[in-house]
Amino acid sequence: MDSQTLFNQIYLANDQPATCGKCGSRTNIIFDLSHSNDGTQIHECLNETCGYMFVTIEDKEFQGQL
Ligand SMILES: [Zn+2]
Repeated sequence: MDSQTLFNQIYLANDQPATCGKCGSRTNIIFDLSHSNDGTQIHECLNETCGYMFVTIEDKEFQGQL
């Protein structure tokens, strides 16, 4: 997976809908690998003046360690 190297910002997904890390707007999932092992999703901010893109990964492993 090269996707994680294309983006500087990687967030852990949680139960809340993803929101833009810069402006807080809702995001659109433009690339969904949520069925993969690490649950990678690439989000794009719906605010056209922002356009921030970031990656989220599910924290299954983190939860499994608790
Ligand atoms: Zn934004």
